[in-house]
Amino acid sequence: MAYIEFKNVCKNYGNDEVKIKALKKASFEIEKGELVVILGPSGAGKTTCLNIIGGLDAPTSGEVLVDNVRIDKLKGRKLVKYRREDVGFVFQFYNLINNLTAMENVELASQICKNPMDPISIIKKVSLTKRKDNFPSELSGGEQQRVAIARAIAKRPKLLLCDEPTGALDDKTGKQILKLLQSMNKKEKMTVIIITHNNAIAPMANKVIRFKNGSVESVKINKKPISAGDLSW
Ligand code: ADP
Ligand code: MG
Repeated sequence: MAYIEFKNVCKNYGNDEVKIKALKKASFEIEKGELVVILGPSGAGKTTCLNIIGGLDAPTSGEVLVDNVRIDKLKGRKLVKYRREDVGFVFQFYNLINNLTAMENVELASQICKNPMDPISIIKKVSLTKRKDNFPSELSGGEQQRVAIARAIAKRPKLLLCDEPTGALDDKTGKQILKLLQSMNKKEKMTVIIITHNNAIAPMANKVIRFKNGSVESVKINKKPISAGDLSW
């Protein structure tokens, strides 16, 4: 059995009059420790898929298993616990808390879970020691995204889910962020899923899942993923 099993998942939004089929029997599997890139054009259902894996949204039908648990069936405290302890989210626009410093943003995350990493060492891991007392508005986009990654990994999540993490960054900064995500995958053995519409990111993945119109168009295994530093676009 795979670590993540996404089986025949459908997700409808709207009502009977205006029904939007965001996912149409989408299926794929992800193994523990994989770095997966999900590709596809805007509107293909990528974010919906990631939100369902992260327990932020529930499917209309189908099954979603993470580590042998039917997370589409989780409710109440169990769902909160799953989101809080098992999942780290990184978003395109960072979603930091503006009146907390970089350090405080990371500390906040570490305070809500059982076995957090030491905030000072994570801040160091993302090379922000000198900027730790700055507020988000005083940091560049790349620095803010590094804080967001630090915040996500502070919880030692089983899963690091990243929705267009480089979408708001210039190419050079984007590549630094991808390097950081790749090192979290390798060194911390985290399963990492990165959504992007940038095909050039695919060669760094162990597995590339392509979405089209709410379905999985293809799944390709990359035997020799390249280092994020060697990507070019
Ligand atoms: P992607 O991330 O690949 O751009 P999304 O998963 O965000 O795609 O969206 C898939 C489809 O579902 C789109 O047509 C989008 O407009 C629609 N959709 C997404 N979220 C909602 C929502 N909360 N309410 C209604 N429609 C939605
Ligand atoms: Mg999206």
